[in-house]
Amino acid sequence: MSTRRASVLREMGLAPLWRLRAAEGDRDAAATADVAETAAERKPNSSAAPPPPSAPQPAQGSDRPQRIARMDWAELREAVAACRACKLCERRKQAVLGVGDERSDWLFVGEGPGAEEDEKGEPFVGQAGKLLDNMLAAIGIRRGQNVYIANTVKCRPPGNRTPEAGEMAACFPYLARQIELLQPKLIVALGRPAAQTLLDGEVKIGAARGRLFEHKGRPLIVTYHPAYLLRNLPDKAKAWEDLCFARTTMGGITGRRE
Ligand code: URA
Ligand code: SF4
Repeated sequence: MSTRRASVLREMGLAPLWRLRAAEGDRDAAATADVAETAAERKPNSSAAPPPPSAPQPAQGSDRPQRIARMDWAELREAVAACRACKLCERRKQAVLGVGDERSDWLFVGEGPGAEEDEKGEPFVGQAGKLLDNMLAAIGIRRGQNVYIANTVKCRPPGNRTPEAGEMAACFPYLARQIELLQPKLIVALGRPAAQTLLDGEVKIGAARGRLFEHKGRPLIVTYHPAYLLRNLPDKAKAWEDLCFARTTMGGITGRRE
């Protein structure tokens, strides 16, 4: 983040920027290793037989993250639609890249597509999505206008289970590329998987909310996932506080009153 932005945020009482202790090792290397592991884990099931054509493919060479890092939006869309880098490809109807204005100030990142998202190819179109739209409306944001909505994993985890670490690592290069292309001014991580992926470490939402983090120099705020809020209504008030904090932070970054 520019020093000007950092000092504006400090003056507004929004600094300090919090940083999780960096995880050891190179995340890209970890992603590749996890993909290879996923493929290796599957071996016993397929015994001596060659993998069926629909089996997930290990990363083609260790340069997968680098190749993804060079993609434009069209290439990214194509790559995600055809991706077989983790086992979530097996049961998806379609991969769900994201939705919104490709030069948005705001980026919201959820967990992974559910049944309706898998059906429609758009993130957050089910019950949780309705709540997210209401949350956005509360701070004056509308889907498709200056906001991009994405997920940590692009394919639906069976039964809406939490994505596994290896799946999130395999999918991370796509989200990283989306962030590079979007250059959002503020990222809002919805729930733990998104927060942990973007902050590269252990995060507890209850403890992390209300603080300004950064992902590769981009301001990042965490809040509860809307699906969690549907089950824990009293925490809605806290999510509302978090969104007000996000709006104020965005105001500090852009110099506009949001
Ligand atoms: N939950 C998510 O995390 N993402 C979606 O797209 C839908 C529900
Ligand atoms: Fe590829 Fe991500 Fe889908 Fe896994 S979840 S198959 S890495 S697009």
